[in-house]
Amino acid sequence: MSSEKKMSLTVKVLLGMALGIAVGLALNLTGLVKNPFVDTYVVNGLFHMIGSMFVNALKMLVVPLVFFSLICGVCGIGDIRMLGRVGGKSFALYMMTTAIAIATAIVIAVSFGIGTGMDISTTTEFTGKESPPLTQVFIDIIPKNPIDAMANGDMLPIIFFSILLGISMLMLGKKAKGFVEGAEIANEIMMKMVNIIMSVAPYAVFALIAGAVAKLGLDLLVSLAGYVLVLVGALMFHLFVTLMITLKLFSGLSPVMFLKKIRNVQIFAFSTASSNATIPVTMRTVTERFGVNNSVASFTVPFGATINMDGTAIMQGVATVFIANAYNVDLGVSGYLTVILMSVLASIGTAGVPGVGLIMLSMVFTQVGLPIEGIGLILGVDRLMDMIRTAVNVSGDATVSSIVAKSEGKLDVNVYNDPNAGVLDTNATLDIDDTVEAEMAEAIQGTKRRE
Ligand code: ASP
Repeated sequence: MSSEKKMSLTVKVLLGMALGIAVGLALNLTGLVKNPFVDTYVVNGLFHMIGSMFVNALKMLVVPLVFFSLICGVCGIGDIRMLGRVGGKSFALYMMTTAIAIATAIVIAVSFGIGTGMDISTTTEFTGKESPPLTQVFIDIIPKNPIDAMANGDMLPIIFFSILLGISMLMLGKKAKGFVEGAEIANEIMMKMVNIIMSVAPYAVFALIAGAVAKLGLDLLVSLAGYVLVLVGALMFHLFVTLMITLKLFSGLSPVMFLKKIRNVQIFAFSTASSNATIPVTMRTVTERFGVNNSVASFTVPFGATINMDGTAIMQGVATVFIANAYNVDLGVSGYLTVILMSVLASIGTAGVPGVGLIMLSMVFTQVGLPIEGIGLILGVDRLMDMIRTAVNVSGDATVSSIVAKSEGKLDVNVYNDPNAGVLDTNATLDIDDTVEAEMAEAIQGTKRRE
């Protein structure tokens, strides 16, 4: 019986998504979205409110989840030397897939010649950003103040601090045991919170997608059809071909199972357009559905959400070719090589949040001397493209997490191959046991009495 019930959340989320697209399209195509009432109270009111509350709820989980799970990951790794290997392998794989992503994107975009003969008069202004020097990116990995890093959700310094804390606990040994056990419990509690938040996902996904689709400039989509089609094609190629070949080649794991189980994570990424906000869902899926041990996932997932952006790199490749052609600039081979290098480097220093891809693009443009205002050409369709590329970004994070875990013997293949493993059964997971409730109350009373 439970299999039917267990599937219900995924099915509900998919339904929420489909319904969101339908309602969004209806509002857009009928022009209702321009009606002041619909605009104020529905799209920018109800949909916006529900969607933002949900994204906030996800973001709320990220820092404590990463913090506690990394402490547990480091303390539970068994052999601390493995940490260095996991770090090295995941960094190399993240950089490699990003470089392949952008190179493929450039090749595809160049062979389609997109952007040539384009009308470059654009009304949308775009002001770029200078790229921070690489030295600063490395300096910033070490937080001056861990609380400040946590308050700002700066992932790399949080990762650094948590790992160092875990290592120090290991060095301290038995004395720190209570702290480690506390972190273990805190981690489990955070995972419960993930389940609670995920259980309202179908409604939130509906609101997020309906709002985004309603606001889409469909006419823009048509006039930028060349760019959009090539970009989406390159993204799909990367997801279904490059990443799946990489997965099979490096780990021998089944791509079909991967694609089946990653769907939920992709929908969350698509709806929120943020790899960072998706961390709790990616972490849950990778550990409980794929069987990746927490000692690997607690590091590779938040690390990937920050430094790995295959989808974003693809957008940068396609957009560079598109705008270079539109402005009749010949970048030449060396220009394109610079683009590849810059995009890979830019992805290290920027977090996975909505719209950051455009900022990275402006950094790349400054390097190769392309006009930054050209970005205004693609601005109108970027929200939708952001949603799609974020889904590819998180798929890359999960691919590398699985490969690294498998290579370290930290992936339970039985869990990976079991289609029902870790399926969220909201009815069971959200249950509070009456006896436990009474016992907890009794325990609290006991403490009070002792006082
Ligand atoms: N939204 C993307 C992410 O969070 C980044 C981007 O491409 O703008 O992964």
